[in-house]
Amino acid sequence: MEIEFAGAAREVTGSCHIVRVNGKTVLLDCGLFQGRRGDAEQKNRQPPCPIDRIDAVILSHAHLDHSGRLPLLTSLGYSGPIHTTKATADLCAIMLADSAHLQESDFQFLSRHGRAVDPPLYGLRDAARAEELMERHPYDEWFDVCTGLRARFTDAGHILGSAAIVLEAANGSAVTRVIFSGDVGRPGLPIIRDPDPPRDDAELVIMESTYGNRDHESVASSRDHLGRVVRETVSRGGRVLIPAFAVGRTQEIVYDLQVLWREKAIPSIPIVIDSPLATAATEVFERNTDIFDHTEDAVREIDKLFRFERLSYTASTAESKALNTQIGPMVVIAGSGMVEGGRILHHLLNGAANPRNTIVIVGFQAEHTLGRRIVARRPVIRVLGSDVELRAGVEIINGYSAHADRTELASWLDAVRGTSPHLRKVCLVHGEEAAQSALSESLTARGYFVSCPAWHEKLSL
Ligand code: ZN
Repeated sequence: MEIEFAGAAREVTGSCHIVRVNGKTVLLDCGLFQGRRGDAEQKNRQPPCPIDRIDAVILSHAHLDHSGRLPLLTSLGYSGPIHTTKATADLCAIMLADSAHLQESDFQFLSRHGRAVDPPLYGLRDAARAEELMERHPYDEWFDVCTGLRARFTDAGHILGSAAIVLEAANGSAVTRVIFSGDVGRPGLPIIRDPDPPRDDAELVIMESTYGNRDHESVASSRDHLGRVVRETVSRGGRVLIPAFAVGRTQEIVYDLQVLWREKAIPSIPIVIDSPLATAATEVFERNTDIFDHTEDAVREIDKLFRFERLSYTASTAESKALNTQIGPMVVIAGSGMVEGGRILHHLLNGAANPRNTIVIVGFQAEHTLGRRIVARRPVIRVLGSDVELRAGVEIINGYSAHADRTELASWLDAVRGTSPHLRKVCLVHGEEAAQSALSESLTARGYFVSCPAWHEKLSL
C-alpha cells in the first residue's frame, strides 16, 4: 500500500490523501485549500491525481476543507462512488451548492470591478452531481470500497456526521489496516456524541494536528464565558457579533444560548441567525437527531433545540441589512466562520469600530484570513474594500472548538494504540508547523514514531 499526502500536508486546509493499493486508487477526502487567494487558487485547480485513475473517494466529513473539491472531480468527469455517512451527505448537499454559489458570485463581483480572475472552480451542477455519487453508510459497519479493500466509519465527534475512517486492505492472507482520524472532536461538545476512537489493529494512523500545541478551555466553561460576554456587552448597549461556521458551531451556540436564556443567565434580547446556510444546516440537524448525544440533559429535555422565543432566522439580504438600522442590543450569528465572506462582513463594516460591541471568535482562524487578523487585534482591518478601525472588543472562546486539543489528541491516539499492537507509525496532517512540531515532540516522548509528511510526499507500507 502506498499513501500520498496530497493536501493538508504541513497546513490545515485542502485535506486529501491518495491511497494506492492492489492496483486501485482511493482518495481520503478531497478538500478545498483556503487562505491566500493566489496560492489556494493554484492548488485548488489541480485535481490531486488524474481523474480516470480514481476508483473511489471516502469522505470523513462535510467541512469544505475536506469536501470542497469533490465537485471539481465531477466537473472533470469523475463518476465513481463517494462513500460517507448519511448526515455528511445531507450536509454536503447544502455546503457544496453554497460553495459553488459563492465562487460564482465572487467571480462576478471581481469581474465587475475589472479584476482578471479565473472562472469558478465548478458550478451548481457539479456540486449536485457529487451529491448524487454519495453512498451513505452507518457508523461501525464495514463496506466494500473496491476489490480487496473495505472501510468502516467511527464517530469522530467533530461535527454532525463526522467520521474517522478505518481502511483494511487484503492481499491473500496479508491484511493491512490504516486509520485516518479525519478531524477529531472533543468529549463533551454540545449536541454531538463524543469521539469514538477506532479499535482496530492498524499499522499506520494518519492524524490531524490542528491544535497540537495547545489546550482549550473546557467545554462547560465556554457556555459561562459566552453568557458573561453577552451580559457585559448588553450592559454597554452593544451587539455581540459572532462569526461562526454555519454547520456545527452555529447550532452549538444556539443550543447554549437557549440553555442560558432558560436559566435567565442572559437578558432576553433578540438572537439572530443571519445566514441562509446556517438555517439550512439547522434543518439537516433536525433531520438527523438519531445521532445526537442522547446522554445530554438538554438533548433529552428540550423539544426544539434550535427554535425558541427570542431566536429568529433571517431569510433575505434585505432583512439582513435591516439589522444594521435596528436599535438596541442583540446577538448576531453569521458566516463565514473565518470571516472570509458572507453576511458577517457587513455587520463588521457597521459594527467593528463601535467599542460597545463585542466580536466573539468561536472557531479556528487559519493564517491569512480576516478572522486571524481580528484574533491578532489588528488596529485596522480591511472589510469589503474599506479600512475599519477595530475598536469593538474581541473575545476568544476556544472551548467551542470542534477540534481536539493536544491532550485530547494524545488520548484519542492512546485509545487507538490500545488495540493496535502493530502500530508502527503516526503521520501528522492538518496542522500548521508550530502545532505539528509540538505534537510530534510530545508523541515521540510517549513512544510513537511520528512524521509530518510534506505535500505530495509518499509513504509505503
Ligand atoms: Zn472539520
